[in-house]
Amino acid sequence: MSEPYFEMLWDCAQCDARGLLAKTHRHCPNCGAAQDPAKRYFPEPGQEVEAKDHRFVGKDWLCGYCESPSSAASAFCGNCGAPKDGSPDVAPVADTPTSGPAPAPAATPKTAQPTAATHTPAGNGHRWLIGLVLLVLVAAGSWLYQLFSKHDETVQLVDKAWTRQVAVERFTAVRASDWCDSLPTGAYSVNSTREQRSTRQIQDGQTCQEVRTDMGDGTFSKRQECSPRYRSEPVYDNKCSYRINRWQVLRTDTLRGGSALAPAWPTPLLANNLAGGGSLNTLGAERLGSRTETYTVNLASAKGKNWTCQVDPALWAAMNSGQSVTMKVRGTGGAVCDSLALLPR
Ligand SMILES: [Zn+2]
Ligand SMILES: [Zn+2]
Repeated sequence: MSEPYFEMLWDCAQCDARGLLAKTHRHCPNCGAAQDPAKRYFPEPGQEVEAKDHRFVGKDWLCGYCESPSSAASAFCGNCGAPKDGSPDVAPVADTPTSGPAPAPAATPKTAQPTAATHTPAGNGHRWLIGLVLLVLVAAGSWLYQLFSKHDETVQLVDKAWTRQVAVERFTAVRASDWCDSLPTGAYSVNSTREQRSTRQIQDGQTCQEVRTDMGDGTFSKRQECSPRYRSEPVYDNKCSYRINRWQVLRTDTLRGGSALAPAWPTPLLANNLAGGGSLNTLGAERLGSRTETYTVNLASAKGKNWTCQVDPALWAAMNSGQSVTMKVRGTGGAVCDSLALLPR
């Protein structure tokens, strides 16, 4: 492979010579100290030095005696002459996007003992915090338990009410709009306009960045890594506005009453009946729509607390004023209406 290779850099720890070439300078040209491969770094972009006619033969190996790097091609250490014999390879350095000289190696921590000593009080503080958190959790738990707990209560029926409703629908011409490819049957007076329906992603060039790889032999290689870039573009389609005849809820008739009046359905007057037999599906015709009914009871405890519950018609009919019933009540004071039951007489 004849791709171009560039020199990694290293700094001499003995004499502070900086920016030495990792491939060319196996020893510091200033003081003669051997290169430390752990301190190799990538040069600033634009300050790269090509390793001319370099051939990659493998990562350097690390001498077990003097820790200096030697080419994979040589069987003996270039610094001390020790044999290669199973010596490990140099660990490659990762390039950072904001690449520059590697930060000066941090002073080796000689303060291991003091940090260990300051660890113990911190550990105690930790335990104390865990205790506090547990305490809060237990308090919150018991509070939640009270909130969601239920108890049985005997309550009395104060009064009861019912509501019955019937919707009246009229066959009406309404305006609506849809995408023209999903126009409902029966649409008329159709007008179409162009409108944006969606967006589509169009490839618009590509974004490239340079990726540098440490070859581990004092050089690095460069290659371009590109990914497609997109822009969004509106997609237009035909939108249809139209008229269509539909059954629309015109009004809702309601009847309500208490225990004195038996529940009954309202009987709405319909326009087509008044007109003397207009047939259905002509504009202006009316018909009965959906029916709904609700049954409520007001309950009170001996202590004067009040609840309102919706119940099913059968239970509502069986309950009489002054009658006692049982019901579950939540810790928050709310009634569990589903639990309502008549007391055996
Ligand atoms: Zn030096
Ligand atoms: Zn050596």
